[in-house]
Amino acid sequence: MSMKNLIKIFVTILFAVAVSSMASCQNKTEATSMKDSTGNPYYSRTDTSVLNVTNAEWKKVLPEDVYAVAREKDTERPFTGKYWDFTGLGTYYCAVCGNKLFRSDAKFASSCGWPSFFETVRKNAVIYLPDDSYGMNRTEVQCGRCGSHLGHLFDDGPPPTGKRFCMNSIVLEFVPDDTTHQKTE
Ligand code: FE
Repeated sequence: MSMKNLIKIFVTILFAVAVSSMASCQNKTEATSMKDSTGNPYYSRTDTSVLNVTNAEWKKVLPEDVYAVAREKDTERPFTGKYWDFTGLGTYYCAVCGNKLFRSDAKFASSCGWPSFFETVRKNAVIYLPDDSYGMNRTEVQCGRCGSHLGHLFDDGPPPTGKRFCMNSIVLEFVPDDTTHQKTE
């Protein structure tokens, strides 16, 4: 084999290595950017089937602060969440799985520092569990589809229900009305 041919082969190999390493770099970038809310394979605003996903799996999918509230029952500090004094017209979905939870017309101004609603959008939107933690007798509210912790239910709400769904903003996702119509109808 001539020297010229050897150099040709060497250059071809170098080029192939460079192209393949560029390709693998791109793959890595894509994999990283998928790990935000859009990379959540369980999220759906139309599928109402109950999810049975382990916390180990949720940990891979959810942002750390959402995971802490949704799966470890952490509570965001009052007056800090994005929706506690928000008055937009639209629908609130579970930020973990996309389950429809509340309409803005069931939201009321509460002095507690967390977004508060007097009713859910449908009966099975959430489930209720007794919560005796911290020496209190409270009712925990979980998402009816994914079982994520959303907040608590109290009996000091306004008419017509007298209920107060005291929720953590971070596990809610607000969609304004015009966008809601486009996506669900
Ligand atoms: Fe959910």
